Amino acid sequence: MTELTQRQKYDLKRQLEELKACRGRHTELISLYIPPNKQIHDVTSYLKNEYSQSQNIKSKTTMKNVLSAIESIMSRLKQFKQPPENGIVFFVGHKSIGSDKTDMVAYVIDPPLPINIFLYRCDSTFFIEPLEEMLVEKEIYGLFLIDRRECTIGLLRGNRIDLLKYMTSHVPGKHGRGGQSQRRFERLTELAAHEWFVKCGEQASEIFRNQKEIKGILVGGPGPTKQFFIDENYLHYEVQDKIVETFDTGYTDEYGLKELVSAASETMSNLKISKEKKLMKAFLKEITKSKGSLSVYGENQIRRALQIGAVDTLLLSENLRKYRIKLKCPSCNYIEERTISEDDLKNFSPEACPKCNTQSTMEIVEKVDLIDELSDLAEKIGSKVEIISLGSEEGDSLYSAFSGIAGILRYPIDL
Ligand SMILES: [Zn+2]
Repeated sequence: MTELTQRQKYDLKRQLEELKACRGRHTELISLYIPPNKQIHDVTSYLKNEYSQSQNIKSKTTMKNVLSAIESIMSRLKQFKQPPENGIVFFVGHKSIGSDKTDMVAYVIDPPLPINIFLYRCDSTFFIEPLEEMLVEKEIYGLFLIDRRECTIGLLRGNRIDLLKYMTSHVPGKHGRGGQSQRRFERLTELAAHEWFVKCGEQASEIFRNQKEIKGILVGGPGPTKQFFIDENYLHYEVQDKIVETFDTGYTDEYGLKELVSAASETMSNLKISKEKKLMKAFLKEITKSKGSLSVYGENQIRRALQIGAVDTLLLSENLRKYRIKLKCPSCNYIEERTISEDDLKNFSPEACPKCNTQSTMEIVEKVDLIDELSDLAEKIGSKVEIISLGSEEGDSLYSAFSGIAGILRYPIDL
C-alpha cells in the first residue's frame, strides 16, 4: 500500500502539528525511529550507549532531562518483543512551557507506512521529516513528451520525476533541398515521421501499460505534433484513455519533464479537489429542496442521523479542530459528554458537578478528536466519510457556514 486513507492522513497531520509545537529549552528532545526489521535488543544497547555518553552533557538540567527521556524510552521498549509491522517512532523529552518551566512529553507513534531508517536524534525540536514525507501525495502520473526529433517517457511519483526512456529520431527537417526532388523528399520525410511515431507509441504503450497504478497521463511538447500523435492513435487504446490533458512545453527532453509537471500542477490539484467539490455540491443542492431533502447539518442533527443509520456520506472539514470530551464527577460518578473547541479545551476551568452538591469538580476522563469520534460512528453504520479541505469555495463554506460538519442522507428523515 502506498497511499494513506483520508483518515490516516488526517490523524498523522494532527499528530505532527502537536509534535511541531514542542520546543525544548536546550537540545533535550529525543526522536527515535525504529524500522520493522530492527532487533529491539540492538536498540536497547544503542540507547545504553547514548545514556552513558549523555552523562558528559555540561548543563546539569539538560543532562537530567536527556537521561530521563532515554530511561522513559527504554522502559517503554520493554513492552515490545519486536517492532510492530511498520516499525515505531518515539518522541520523548521535556518541552518548554514558558517561564523556565518544562513538561515531560512522550509520544509513541505507530506509523501508517513502514519506517525505513533507524535514527536517533537529540535536538531542541522533534525530528518529524520522515513522517511528514508520508503525507506527500504518492499518486503516479505518466509523463510523455513528443515532437519530430525527440521523445521522452517518464513517471511522476508524488513529487519525484523519473526518466524512463529518451529517444531521438532521424526524421529530417521539413524543408528539403527544393527542386524536382521536393515532393519525393516530403514523402520520405512523412514516412520517416510515421515510423518514428509508431516506435514512440509502442514504447510508451508498453511502459505505461505495465504501470497499473497510473492515475493519468500528461502529454507535452512544442507545437501541434503531440495532438497529431494522439489523434492518429499511435498509443494503445488503454493508454490513450488515461490521457488527462496536453500541455505546451519548450523542450522534449529530461528538462521538458519538469516543464510538463509544473504546467500540469494546477490540473492535478484540481483532480483531487474536484471530488470534494462534487460532494459538497450534491449536499448544497439537497439543501435547497423543500421536501425530501437528503442534506443534514448541525452536530446534533448529524448525531441523530448517525444513530438511526441514515447517513450515506459524512462530510467533515479538515479544519474542524474540535474535541469530544467526557466529564466525570469523582463523587457521584455523574458523566457528561460534550463537544468543545481546541481553544476552549486549552482554557478549560474545572466546573462543579450539577448532580451532587459536594465540592467536587468534574474531571475530563476522555478526550477524542471530533473527526475521529464522528468517523467511528459513521464507519459503524457503513457510511462513507470524506474529509474536505479548505481552499475551494465549497470546502470553505462547509467550514464557515456549516461549522465543518454536514452529511448526505440515504433517505429523507424527520429531525
Ligand atoms: Zn457529582
